Amino acid sequence: LPGLMQTTPLMISGILTYAQQAHGTREIVSKLIDEPIWRYDYAGLARRSAQLAHALRRLGVQPGDRVTSLAWNTHRHLELFYAVPGLGAVLHTANPRLFDEQIIYTINHAESGVLFFDRNFAALVERIAPHLTTVKTFVMLSDEERTIPGTVGAISYESLIAGEAQAIDWPSFDENAGAFLCYTSGTTGDPKGVLYSHRAVVLHAMAGGLNSAFGFTAFDVVMPCSSLYHATAWGLPFSAPICGTKLVLPADKMDGASLHALIEGEGVTFTGGVPTIWTMYLTWLEQTGRRPDSLKRVVIGGSAVPRAMAEAFKRLYGVSVLQIWGMTETCPIGVVATPTPSLAVLGEEAMDEAIWTRQGRLQFGIELKVEAEDGSDAPRDGESSGALKVRGPWVVKRYFRQEADAAEADGWFDTGDIATLDGHGFMRITDRQKDVIKSGGEWISSIDLENVAVGCPGVKIAAVIGVPHPKWEERPLLVIEPHDGVQVSKAEVLDYLTPRIVKWWTPDDVVFAAVPLTATGKIDKKVLRTAWREHLLG
Ligand code: ADP
Repeated sequence: LPGLMQTTPLMISGILTYAQQAHGTREIVSKLIDEPIWRYDYAGLARRSAQLAHALRRLGVQPGDRVTSLAWNTHRHLELFYAVPGLGAVLHTANPRLFDEQIIYTINHAESGVLFFDRNFAALVERIAPHLTTVKTFVMLSDEERTIPGTVGAISYESLIAGEAQAIDWPSFDENAGAFLCYTSGTTGDPKGVLYSHRAVVLHAMAGGLNSAFGFTAFDVVMPCSSLYHATAWGLPFSAPICGTKLVLPADKMDGASLHALIEGEGVTFTGGVPTIWTMYLTWLEQTGRRPDSLKRVVIGGSAVPRAMAEAFKRLYGVSVLQIWGMTETCPIGVVATPTPSLAVLGEEAMDEAIWTRQGRLQFGIELKVEAEDGSDAPRDGESSGALKVRGPWVVKRYFRQEADAAEADGWFDTGDIATLDGHGFMRITDRQKDVIKSGGEWISSIDLENVAVGCPGVKIAAVIGVPHPKWEERPLLVIEPHDGVQVSKAEVLDYLTPRIVKWWTPDDVVFAAVPLTATGKIDKKVLRTAWREHLLG
């Protein structure tokens, strides 16, 4: 028997219209590239997004067409986030940290007709432009006067939208239509495109605002330091307006001083980003003796959050760390580590411990399971590990322009991570399938070892890789990048590890080197494994 309620499609433009009506005067603040700081509000965002939408139509952008952005976290990029999907077109958020060839590959693969780019990507765009097969129009995200003349014939964003009407009737269409195209960084093979639908983005944004996840109130001041080009900055550009928070956009400056100026100046209560950013910020705070007084919570993910980082935020500054796990293929929120009453009764320290050592807990809307090697469901006992699979309305079904589904027929998508689940819905990643170390037939968790090693004084980044070993097949090698100007010795590191890990996990060697990072800020283990392959073979 069909229900008799309305089947209003879930549209991204609906978020904007709602924010304009319900939180119209709530502020949006944006740093820019070599331009003064920009301030307006959700009503202003709605007006300028309408102008941009009219301009896109004038350029010939049709529903289903792709438009690429190569841009930092600014208000103009935010306007693209609403105007492009609002028209039914798709915004491909290119990742500027990829190699040129990969950026070219993704733009050509997306078959984008228009490329919007920040002024400090002008040189990059000049380099790649001759190889772009479908881009007809280049737009520099800048005002008229600062647009760099000659750059691939680019027009300025401000002149593009100037004079357009500030209101629009956003079209309504199938909520399963594509909205964002995000490519995985492709550590193996070509980058793969994940095409988010309106339905996925809206449901994900609503879930992000819930108390089990970010739990925003209208009093929050949210600053996304995860990139808008990386899986839509965890959906914050959508969860924030749904909840009516003030939004602060830091552009490209993620150094400690720049972030602190915004936190202090704008009263930021909530921020989020990959661990690398917070390592820099904590170091800066320590060096300057400053304190992030307004900050209450910081969400960290993309790589495992070192326990020492969560502890420093909490103990030194009273800031709670919420770890998040997810991937481009999951929009990206998978799990978020938020407190529960059943943990609270254990007392604050035990609760912190439980939260800091897990990636997060189940969120309504996304199912998780751990599969044992024989294909059976592993028990949810917090101990049994296996392949982590996910399914739900914001999980990928098939990659863009591929013939076969990426998910299994019943929807389960293999994340490539190894994890445990417990009876309270908490998930813990122990490794990536390709990074796991198998020594004499037993698993060693590279993530667990890294988490301990990064707590050793002087250590900035700790990376553990499995390298071929004549007797044990593989043994762990620990690569350490110390903080600038700090000396750390192998003996100090091993002394630090010994009381904290089981003996047979002890790395066979500790080496000191710069640790390479991928385009999404993760330790590039492929590069490390190649570089150190022979190290234990004598
Ligand atoms: P990429 O394009 O680099 O693959 P993703 O963000 O899609 O970027 O990467 C997703 C992967 O990142 C996950 O499968 C997982 O291995 C890792 N990851 C994300 N968050 C965490 C976390 N909190 N702890 C450990 N690993 C994480």
